[in-house]
Amino acid sequence: MDIAKKYENVKQRIEKAALRANRNPKDIKLVTVTKTHPVEVIEKALQLGIEYIGENKVQEAEAKLPKLKGKYKEFHFIGHLQSNKIKNLIPLCPTLIHSLDKFSTIRKLHNYLQKNELHQDILIEVNTSGEESKFGVEPSSTLPLIKAVANFSNVHIKGLMTIGKLTDNKDEIRTCFSQLRELQQQIAQQNIAGVKMELLSMGMTNDFEIAIEEGANIVRIGTAILGPRQYKEKR
Ligand SMILES: *Cc1c(COP(=O)(O)O)cnc(C)c1O
Repeated sequence: MDIAKKYENVKQRIEKAALRANRNPKDIKLVTVTKTHPVEVIEKALQLGIEYIGENKVQEAEAKLPKLKGKYKEFHFIGHLQSNKIKNLIPLCPTLIHSLDKFSTIRKLHNYLQKNELHQDILIEVNTSGEESKFGVEPSSTLPLIKAVANFSNVHIKGLMTIGKLTDNKDEIRTCFSQLRELQQQIAQQNIAGVKMELLSMGMTNDFEIAIEEGANIVRIGTAILGPRQYKEKR
C-alpha cells in the first residue's frame, strides 16, 4: 500500500472509532509521526494533506524541519526532552510539547522562555502502564507535579499524554487510556489557575482506536501511515 492509501485508511479508521464512541471525528487531531523518515518521504506525505507532524528527537528535527519550512502546519515534539536541548527545540517552534514529566526540566523550559519572551504549550506525560522502560510521571504524582509548575507563567499546561502498554491485551491497553482520562477529569476539577486540561494525547498505530473510544483528542500515528521506520543500520 502506498502512503496515500494508508493515510486514507487511517483517517477512515479514526472516523469510525469516533462515531462508535458518539464523538465528532473532527475533534480528533491526527499527528503523523515522521521520526526516522527522510525529508523526501515527509514531503510526499505533506502533499497528501497531512498538516501536523511529530518528531521525537531534537537533533533530527533540527536537521529536517528547516527543509520542510512552510510545508507543514504544526510541528509537535513527542519525545523525551533533555534540558540541555531546550535551546535547540524552542527555535523550531513546536506547537505542542507532549512529553514533559519532570519539574526541573519544566522549570528550565520556563526560564528559557521567559528570558526570550516566549510562551509554550505543553502536555504532561503520564506513565499509565507501569512499565519501567517508559518515561512519564506516575499517575499519583501527576497532580502534585502540575501544582508545582502551574505558576510558571511562560509554560502553559494544556492536558496529558500517555503511551499505552505494549501488549496484545486490549483490556490492559484500554485501562491505560481510561486512567489518563480519569486523571484529566480529576485535575480539571481542581481549577488550578493557568492549567487547562483540554487535550488528551494518546493512541499510536497499534491502539489508536481504543484511545479514541476512551477520549483521545490527539492521536500520534507513524507506522500505519508511513510504513515501517527506517532506522539507520548499525555496523
Ligand atoms: C514513535 C512514536 C509514536 C508513533 O508510533 P507508531 O506505532 O509508529 O504509530 C507515537 N508516539 C510516540 C511518543 C512515539 O515515540
